[in-house]
Amino acid sequence: MLKSDNVSCITACPVNVFRWFDTPGNPVSEKKADPFNEQACIFCMACVNVCPVAAIDVKPP
Ligand code: SF4
Repeated sequence: MLKSDNVSCITACPVNVFRWFDTPGNPVSEKKADPFNEQACIFCMACVNVCPVAAIDVKPP
């Protein structure tokens, strides 16, 4: 289980860009974050700062 299950982009994001989606059988994690609401991003970088695996790349406009 990843550290991100407790502190994650999903809880860090103030505008709810992310939601969980299930990835059953994945050897690393059975859940991943889906940026389904990306257009709401305000480029605060909170998700980038909390991601334990540096998986998020936010490019401000
Ligand atoms: S940079 Fe965007 S997606 Fe990331 S936490 Fe901030 S608002 Fe949410």
